[in-house]
Amino acid sequence: MPFSTLGLSEPLLKALAELNYSEPTAIQKKAIPVVLSGKNLVAAAQTGTGKTASFVLPILEKLNTDRKLRGKRIRALILTPTRELAVQVEQSVRDYGKHLNLSSMAMYGGTDIEPQRQKLIWGVDIIVATPGRLLDMAHQRALHFDELEVLVLDEADRMLDMGFIDDINKIIERLPLERQNLLFSATISDDVRALSKRTISNATEISIANNSASKPKIDQWLITVDKGNKSALLSHLINEHKWQQALIFIETKHGAAKLVSQLEKRGINAESIHGGRTQAVREQVLNDFKAGKIKFLVATGIASRGLDIGELTRVVNYDLPDQVDDYIHRIGRTGRAGASGEAVSFVAKDNFRNLCAIESRLGHVIKRKEFEGFPVKKVVPVSILNYVPKNKR
Ligand code: AMP
Repeated sequence: MPFSTLGLSEPLLKALAELNYSEPTAIQKKAIPVVLSGKNLVAAAQTGTGKTASFVLPILEKLNTDRKLRGKRIRALILTPTRELAVQVEQSVRDYGKHLNLSSMAMYGGTDIEPQRQKLIWGVDIIVATPGRLLDMAHQRALHFDELEVLVLDEADRMLDMGFIDDINKIIERLPLERQNLLFSATISDDVRALSKRTISNATEISIANNSASKPKIDQWLITVDKGNKSALLSHLINEHKWQQALIFIETKHGAAKLVSQLEKRGINAESIHGGRTQAVREQVLNDFKAGKIKFLVATGIASRGLDIGELTRVVNYDLPDQVDDYIHRIGRTGRAGASGEAVSFVAKDNFRNLCAIESRLGHVIKRKEFEGFPVKKVVPVSILNYVPKNKR
């Protein structure tokens, strides 16, 4: 089924052809007609399924009219949890809309507000923003919402996890009542459901989360390891098993810096990205990683959601995350858009409860591998698959 049957016009079809998108993905097939029809939408879709294009394409199509934009006004607002995702989604807006005459900008904190404010003076069609900076702009009257037509809450579950609910509510209070609402979330938790009930009436619901055809091909395996042995094990895997590339998730920024220096001592060049580095450095490091100039990137949770890093072949959970959703999102950085990938987790005895929760959600145990020279003193038992954590969210 080609894109042309979905009701997209020539400039968009041309951009898609140039990007070598031959066919819509499952979420695109379902979401694009709904969005074009003007209906509200609540969609359960993970990153890596093509969800960004599933809302960006129809929004571009709908906004492609002769309507004149007034100063400080916007027509579509896409809210995202992180700066990195805002930048990435806005890049998609540019890529897909390159043959259209629509303006867009990414708006996020941690950088000078003035250039962003200047860009708004003549109005911008599509803004991709993190909630805090957007509210600042609205408070400063640098931005008015009276001409807004579409609101997108992207990665709604993550925004709620990150504590943005008050900001989101304050933003929604400022929006015109007559608008189209789209909500995308990897998981529709109780909190997400409550948010969508409060803010989105009569929504069409779609879910592709359980569609095996759209599931990325990710080879998951784990190694049990004593805490003190992790960096030696990682170096061994990189050096002896000729790993070419990995995105390595770690709990703390302090730990990230330490791991980078431990790897360097063993002759492995690595970089880190975490909340303690400036926005400019984070962007530079990420671009270098995407371009293949940096092969091993150590990241705290900040980089775990939404980022699309082209041909990423391997994700390593150096520290197993506390939350099952984080595990699912982290491993979703690999095996995207039909490519295959590998997700490796280092599991120490202390992680046993987290492991049970993750494997219970997956519905199967993750296969274990052992490597000579790394015997474990503190054995990690095999999981109980019907494990329910006490503080289940
Ligand atoms: P997303 O889930 O939006 O983060 O998209 C994941 C990746 O899939 C991105 O690299 C997109 O460029 C790519 N992609 C999205 N739609 C298609 C498509 N129809 N055909 C091929 N690649 C796609």
